Amino acid sequence: MPSEKIKLDKIRVRLAPSPTGYLHFGTARVGLFNYLLAKQNNGSFILRIEDTDKERSTKEFEKGIMEGLKWLGLEWSEGPDIGGEYGPYRQTERLKIYREYLEKLLKEKKAYYCFCSEEELEAQRQYRMSIGEAPIYSGKCADMSEEEVKKNLAEGKDCVIRFKAPVKKVVFNDLIRGRLEFDSKMIGDTVIAKGLDSPLYNFAVVIDDHLMKISHVVRGEDHLSNTPKQILLQEAMGLNHPVYAHLPLVMAPDKTKLSKRHGTVSIESYRDDGYLPEALINFMVFLGWNPGDEREIFSMDSLVKEFDIKRVQKGGAIFNIEKLNYLNGFYIRSKKPEKLTEFCIPFLEKAGLIEKKKDTYAVKDTGEDVDLEELTAIVSLYQERLKHLSEIANLTDFFFKKDISLEKDKLKWKQMADEDVKNSLERSESVLSEIKDANWTKENLEKTLLKMSEEYSSRGELLWPLRVALSGREASAGPFDILSILGREKSLNRIKSAKKLL
Ligand code: GLU
Repeated sequence: MPSEKIKLDKIRVRLAPSPTGYLHFGTARVGLFNYLLAKQNNGSFILRIEDTDKERSTKEFEKGIMEGLKWLGLEWSEGPDIGGEYGPYRQTERLKIYREYLEKLLKEKKAYYCFCSEEELEAQRQYRMSIGEAPIYSGKCADMSEEEVKKNLAEGKDCVIRFKAPVKKVVFNDLIRGRLEFDSKMIGDTVIAKGLDSPLYNFAVVIDDHLMKISHVVRGEDHLSNTPKQILLQEAMGLNHPVYAHLPLVMAPDKTKLSKRHGTVSIESYRDDGYLPEALINFMVFLGWNPGDEREIFSMDSLVKEFDIKRVQKGGAIFNIEKLNYLNGFYIRSKKPEKLTEFCIPFLEKAGLIEKKKDTYAVKDTGEDVDLEELTAIVSLYQERLKHLSEIANLTDFFFKKDISLEKDKLKWKQMADEDVKNSLERSESVLSEIKDANWTKENLEKTLLKMSEEYSSRGELLWPLRVALSGREASAGPFDILSILGREKSLNRIKSAKKLL
């Protein structure tokens, strides 16, 4: 039975990546689930950059994350680049805000300075474990007198700020996992800041989710243990509780958490490997969700209609690259040729075959112009067989090269002797040189050559050597397509060069 979808007046969700690396596949997937929830409810999808880890965060990564999300089609309506009512949307620009909340917590004695050294904390941890207790903080600094705190601070002693967690059970309803219960005794007094101007994740996230009016926090299951900490902080400060939904982890086929050692994990590298955003979106959503029937192909629009967060499974989702490849092939075949060409152009550029000119492109090897229409004609020839866009350069480079490398033996159809190949090419050359530029169309070329091929016991004896002479390849698009795209002069020159090998 289909579950009832949640309808709230205003759904506001966020993706909160830390710019400490490229856009990870898992982060993009979390972004997608959030995006769908927002879109299907006329809500807002917000991008917040959690860059409080100053050492590991870079502007480069932030830029890469934003580009990756845009490329996938996961556009936000509020974010660091476009602003919004509840900004700024970069945590390092919100330090004053966190400081106020920290000061308030300290004043109300809901948080305290802790001056314990690393060695001391480690010893405490080991001791607690040795007596079979959770290795939480002992609470040693919780009751330090104000004078002592002041003295320590004045002396510049190293310190952190800890939240005094009330002893209680934290209960919440997760949209995916149902009712969950945590005992705060297992959490202890966690560090919420390294100083008044250095808040840590669990603290900053609570303030931001509240001030940005986040209605739902949809994130990976790896954050599940943070949620009770965040709820305790919300309670202590009298802030909103968003609804939580923890998505199952993405697992590699070996059932371990998907990570770098399993190969590509950044969206950027999927793009560079020639995957289409549609294929990745369709693939990602199935890592945790399914429509409840056999359908496998979903565009973003249909997902906005049909996705249901309550149908997300609890168990880990297995990453199956074959499925992604299948979807990629499917989306490549279903793209309009012009659109597909636009996606292929960066790969042709990267391979050094063409370069952008003002309103058109230039073939690098020859300097000739090649416009979008011609590029589309070339790309279309391979639309059916392309599995990754990155293959396009290898498949089509002979269209762009001045000289192609050719091996004599490849020109032979089956057991043809050198002499026969030479004759065959000569006949092609002579019949083709009769065709004037104006009549150099695929239909005309096809008609002429097929007619001539009737004189041979097998068509291959005429068409194979010709096609290889034009392309240098044993496998390529058909000779009539190649001839019509290469044009009269280039085609005849290639036939002449091939003949010289024999
Ligand atoms: N900055 C956190 C991360 O990248 C955000 C987690 C959350 O959504 O609360 O994992």
